[in-house]
Amino acid sequence: MTTTLNVAKFGGTSVANYETMCSCAKIIANNPNTRVVVVSAAAGVTNHLVALANTPLTSVQIDDIVQKITDIELAIVNRLKHPEDVQEKLTVKLEELKALATNEEINFRDDLKDALLSMGERMSSLLFSAVLREFEVPAINFDVRKVLRTNSTFTNASPEVSTIKQLSHSLLLPELSHSVMVTQGFVGADDQGRTTTLGRGGSDFTAALLAEAIEAETCEIWTDVIGVYTTDPRITDKAKPLPELSFEEAAEMATFGAKVLHPATMEPALRQNIKVFVGSSREPEKGGTWIVRDCEHEPSYRAITRRKDQVMVTVKTPKMMYAQGFLQRVFTIIAKHQLSVDLVTTSEISVSFTLDNPPNTVSEKMNKETLAELTTICDVSVEQGFDLVTVVGNNMHSAAGVSSKIFAAISDFNLRMICFGANPHNLSFVVSNQDSEDVVKVLHNALFE
Ligand code: ADP
Ligand code: ASP
Ligand code: MG
Repeated sequence: MTTTLNVAKFGGTSVANYETMCSCAKIIANNPNTRVVVVSAAAGVTNHLVALANTPLTSVQIDDIVQKITDIELAIVNRLKHPEDVQEKLTVKLEELKALATNEEINFRDDLKDALLSMGERMSSLLFSAVLREFEVPAINFDVRKVLRTNSTFTNASPEVSTIKQLSHSLLLPELSHSVMVTQGFVGADDQGRTTTLGRGGSDFTAALLAEAIEAETCEIWTDVIGVYTTDPRITDKAKPLPELSFEEAAEMATFGAKVLHPATMEPALRQNIKVFVGSSREPEKGGTWIVRDCEHEPSYRAITRRKDQVMVTVKTPKMMYAQGFLQRVFTIIAKHQLSVDLVTTSEISVSFTLDNPPNTVSEKMNKETLAELTTICDVSVEQGFDLVTVVGNNMHSAAGVSSKIFAAISDFNLRMICFGANPHNLSFVVSNQDSEDVVKVLHNALFE
């Protein structure tokens, strides 16, 4: 058996249908080191599942969505050379999905929601392992819940790293000498065996966690772009793919909105020094980005990211004048609700900070509870409609002229809050959501074109 292990993760568009699955299968067949394969749900399926989980629907609407999911899965099965190998298992899963979707408590119980949300990955991994066997890869569909232990924070669970390692060593690693294990991203289980999920986009995180657990040398994230770009290529066609990135830069980019990587993906990579590759499953020959501990170059500006849906909260109390302990009380409430604050500014009687607030997410729900609690100690005002733009780079706080070049480029725009200096790798600011696309384009032009 090979000693240099690779974990390969394929995102939703990569396992969207039979053809795209075949491109992924070739990538796996070409690399004998790839022994663990992590897949997302086929494109669109998780969005359908989220709609079933979170929206009160009529039975006709439920049937309609379940049918859409069924069509996506059947379109793949019907192309298999031996559909009978997986047909029965798929039928059982579709029935499980339907039972959860029609459960009267589905909109109110997060444990049921997670059981439902997991179905996309559980079906795609079943089908993709069958496609791989057509390519002579000895693939086995492996239930990730046997090893990916999390806490019980349903819909946004945190992994228990040392347990994952132990379980992977006893249940996953021994299989790799003879099989390629195809497993589910995004899904986990708590210590009572109840299904959990890691939050949207969590399959990248799963791949990195499993790579860490089996001490893999590399982790490949195969997606729909040929690497990590200087900015989201959907914002500007001038964005360029980056040949290399450091762990720190990639972590900053992911945290501040580069959707190509789940924000937590770099944590396991950093702990275990695992090289992470990002490339396109449709065009693997085009290469991609290598994310490593030490890069050859450390430019002042590496990339620009945007994170949408920020809310700006200003808390104010006349009592704050000369008062001690007010900030502590505010941040204790924020910490209690497990929110992370990105930008903070303070003045004599007020403090402003931003919260990430994507609609219909855990953070939106927690923000509401937090704001309610804050109003018990101070005046709270909430403003919406902002995006956070971040320039990621190196030694930004100490090199001369780094910030002035950025501010000169965007002097025509109104910046609401700025955060600079706390970290050598970023400069962030808040702009209105109507301006943010232009801000990124203008900045990209000034820094990279
Ligand atoms: P997957 O389904 O494979 O996980 P995602 O849609 O989650 O794929 O992530 C890939 C997308 O991330 C790209 O299509 C691109 O629009 C977006 N993206 C955002 N920022 C960047 C960036 N800096 N570089 C590359 N892609 C980015
Ligand atoms: N399928 C999940 C989602 O769409 C996880 C993932 O694709 O990473 O969020
Ligand atoms: Mg993703």
